[in-house]
Amino acid sequence: MRLFTAAAQMRPIPRSPRFVNGAVSFWYRELGRPRRRAPLGGDADYDVCVVGAGYTGLWTAYYLKKEQPDLRVAVLDRHFAGFGASGRNGGWLSAEFPGPRERYARSHGKAAMIAFQRALMRTVEEVVRVAGDEGIDADVHQGGMRLVATNTAQRERLARDIAHLQEWGYWPDDLHMVDPDQDQGVAVDGITAAAYSPHAARIQPAKLARGLADTVEALGVDLYESTTVTEIRPRRGAARPAAVTELGTVHADHVIRATEGYTATMRGLRRDWLPMHASMIATEPVPAELWERIGWQGREVLGDSAHTYVYAQRTADDRIAVGGRGVPHRFGSEPDAEGATPPHTIAELWRSLVRLLPDVAEVPIEHAWSGVLGAPRDWLPTVDLDTGTGLGWAGGYVGSGVATSNLAGRTLRDLLLGRETELTRLPWVGRRVRGWEPEPLRWVGTRVTNGLYRTADRRESGSAGHTSRLAGLAGRISGR
Ligand SMILES: Cc1cc2nc3c(=O)[nH]c(=O)nc-3n(C[C@H](O)[C@H](O)[C@H](O)COP(=O)(O)OP(=O)(O)OC[C@H]3O[C@@H](n4cnc5c(N)ncnc54)[C@H](O)[C@@H]3O)c2cc1C
Repeated sequence: MRLFTAAAQMRPIPRSPRFVNGAVSFWYRELGRPRRRAPLGGDADYDVCVVGAGYTGLWTAYYLKKEQPDLRVAVLDRHFAGFGASGRNGGWLSAEFPGPRERYARSHGKAAMIAFQRALMRTVEEVVRVAGDEGIDADVHQGGMRLVATNTAQRERLARDIAHLQEWGYWPDDLHMVDPDQDQGVAVDGITAAAYSPHAARIQPAKLARGLADTVEALGVDLYESTTVTEIRPRRGAARPAAVTELGTVHADHVIRATEGYTATMRGLRRDWLPMHASMIATEPVPAELWERIGWQGREVLGDSAHTYVYAQRTADDRIAVGGRGVPHRFGSEPDAEGATPPHTIAELWRSLVRLLPDVAEVPIEHAWSGVLGAPRDWLPTVDLDTGTGLGWAGGYVGSGVATSNLAGRTLRDLLLGRETELTRLPWVGRRVRGWEPEPLRWVGTRVTNGLYRTADRRESGSAGHTSRLAGLAGRISGR
């Protein structure tokens, strides 16, 4: 029965003969799967040991070594550098931020949150700068970000959101409404409103991860792959902090956890960050005659204003890669490591794409994949270093981690070097958040929330009305 349903879901979707589901991501298919570096060879001793070689871990190692070249830094990864969300994401390098800003303002004041937002905008420039300086070719194109609305409720919400953001650190030049009749950036079907920000760039995520890994290695960081950390131990008396693996134990002055969506698999951290699936599809290259109709010449990253929003990019080789809102892990199940994606998710992403750009309805889909991201209970990312235990961490970016992880890496550098800087004063530093409810409660809650958002989108598209009350209810249940 399940097979039958899956086949029915996939039937209307044009698929390339080269269609692949999983295999980590389309980005690696384009780039080639990396040859693995050697695993840890036994017990070892370092100044700093980073667990996880995604953007968070790699940026932390990068900035540490740049600042203090004699520091002995190791990075350990269960698979290979960039295997996680960092090698699978939508390639939106943007100053976007999850969760309500008011929560940081409550503890640190509004000015601190505004400083955070401004720092994120500068972070987009910083990633582009480092990629250029280090010769990392990650298909970076700084075309900005375009958000669109396609019904009345979305238009109202987009206008309200932009006005709100303009009070929280985005000044009108940084993010503003544009008249879709005057500004034909992308020929989105049924567009009712649009907004634009210059603070975003498109990247090829796996190229950035791979380039960063090569760069930190060249700086003298020891990067061990195929090395699973089973436990992170705090400092206990004279015993130094440690990352324990089956291949040996790494002792260090500080151990940094940079495992984001995988954190719940580690001992004692099950309820810290909810692992959520996010999925993507990529089309075959779109023919030139269709691009003439679609526009998208600026290659800005493109998102919509639905509750179950989508985000898209025009790739360097003229495909469209599109992703959607994350959904929670299936209760009691491990995520598919290779990223195989259920047919209903592929179908949903394809319908969203075609709803926005009906011209691409005939363009075959060539790849579908999924990854895991981490959502804290209050939906706000954190970065911290506990000098008592010697342990630090960063993450909980809820799907906005491409730029944020760079800011986290620079902040961890300052914390590890014992410096008080404008970065260490940002309101996400040192924030402690309560854990998620135990299963099955959190699973049920997040399922209900997702269902409500979907129904709200359907209701809004079928009427000339306002934002559906169901979306508000979903927000209250999820605590967003
Ligand atoms: C499909 C998808 C689309 C997204 N799109 C965007 C986007 O367009 N823009 C944006 O800003 N954000 C996006 N995100 C989020 C963004 O990719 C992440 O927030 C960011 O990459 C997190 O980086 P990280 O280094 O913290 O975690 P990861 O990249 O997940 O890295 C964690 C690493 O830890 C390793 N690891 C895990 N457990 C262990 C262990 N026990 N021992 C050793 N190593 C371990 C993993 O192998 C992995 O390499 C998306 C995420 C997904 C999944």
